[in-house]
Amino acid sequence: MLSTTETKLSPEERQRERFRNKSAFVAGKYLRKMEELSGSPAAMQPFFDTLKDIYVRFKDAVRPPDVKTVGTYCMMVPQELILAAGAVNVKLCSGSYTAFSIGDDITPRDACPLIKAVAGFKSIGGVPLYENCSLMIVPVTCDCKKKLASMLMEYAQVHIMPVPSSREADDSIEQFLGDLYALIPLLEETTGNKITYDSLTEAVRTVGCAQYQFSRFLKLKQENPPLIRGTHAMAVMNALSYMPIGAWASALDALNAELTQRKADGEQISRKTQPRIMITGSPVMFPNIKVPLLIDEMGGALVADETCMGDRFFYDPLAIADNSFDGIMRAMANRYIRPCTCPTFTNSKQRIFRIKQMIKDNAIEGIVYHVLRGCLVYDFEYQMMEEELGKLNIPVIRVESDYNEEDVEQLRVRIEAFIELLKLRGQTHKEGTHGV
Ligand code: SF4
Ligand code: SF4
Repeated sequence: MLSTTETKLSPEERQRERFRNKSAFVAGKYLRKMEELSGSPAAMQPFFDTLKDIYVRFKDAVRPPDVKTVGTYCMMVPQELILAAGAVNVKLCSGSYTAFSIGDDITPRDACPLIKAVAGFKSIGGVPLYENCSLMIVPVTCDCKKKLASMLMEYAQVHIMPVPSSREADDSIEQFLGDLYALIPLLEETTGNKITYDSLTEAVRTVGCAQYQFSRFLKLKQENPPLIRGTHAMAVMNALSYMPIGAWASALDALNAELTQRKADGEQISRKTQPRIMITGSPVMFPNIKVPLLIDEMGGALVADETCMGDRFFYDPLAIADNSFDGIMRAMANRYIRPCTCPTFTNSKQRIFRIKQMIKDNAIEGIVYHVLRGCLVYDFEYQMMEEELGKLNIPVIRVESDYNEEDVEQLRVRIEAFIELLKLRGQTHKEGTHGV
């Protein structure tokens, strides 16, 4: 039966209202699960509030009046350039189950859920985060993103950003540098502001300050026993997509202070015997956080996150060798391509190198390899990753999932079994060590 409010609405508005209610219900449920997970620091609140504002209350990203929003996908678009143009940057990749179910009807069956969710958001309309973007920048990283760009063009101004297939070749970086220069007039036209040397250096400083806080956070995350749960750390990184970067850095500063105090007080959120796990693979975007939640709930210690919505996005600061405008542009072209571990690049050496580094830095005992159904680039790399991890004697489990809750129980059983295996290995290792 229709509610009194619904009867006054047109069929489109009614459909939109139902979409928003359902979407808000699912996002609210996962937000509560995260908040109720034991050991949540008090300083997590601004990050939870941001996710609630966007996904439950359907608010726009925080921005002063008359400031434009530029939406981006993936992690190859330098946010420094967007900030230098005086705009707010939001990331539009989404994990919404409700938007996915709508996008499922208008995209090919085998498209990945991330793309289906974005298509669903755009098709249903009425979502301020998407509606209010003055420009969307889509790096062409995989076939799904290419097709998404063409779909989005029907609704918004879209800039397609080429991404080189090689991150090592110097001419690839030169080509990407040219693409970054091509972005400047477009951003200036969109915002009505000039990108000057001063605005660019100020933007670089702002992002650098946020990265400094993030480097402190990464160090604190390496503590054993852990000071924060992996699911909470992932909420911090997801909130970065929607918060002004300065506000995010201040909130992270407060979180770092609380974690530092926890360390000083010897406060533990999990036992030292819980296996230390890293997640890698397809992006994990709120509210699709079922896999990290399951790891934390089933007794694993999720201590590292090598996904593009996690540590990968922000760990590497700009290295500026030449302080001129061109020098900064070159530093950005290098920073956003060379260390990027996205499997869109033909050569996977950088990804393997980074994963090995993270295993060492975080004392990782097992890896959960997350594959979103239809995400071929990650699935392709699984076998190679399994071989590499086998050489290091690090167990890995491949978990495939979609944007719905139908697979939660099956995932729970598999993840629980994996954690039990890691615990057993840990015990055997300790007994072996005692015996020496
Ligand atoms: S993994 Fe790469 S291609 Fe996929 S969403 Fe992330 S940055 Fe984009
Ligand atoms: S890399 Fe995977 S998850 Fe990202 S857009 Fe492409 S297919 Fe989807």
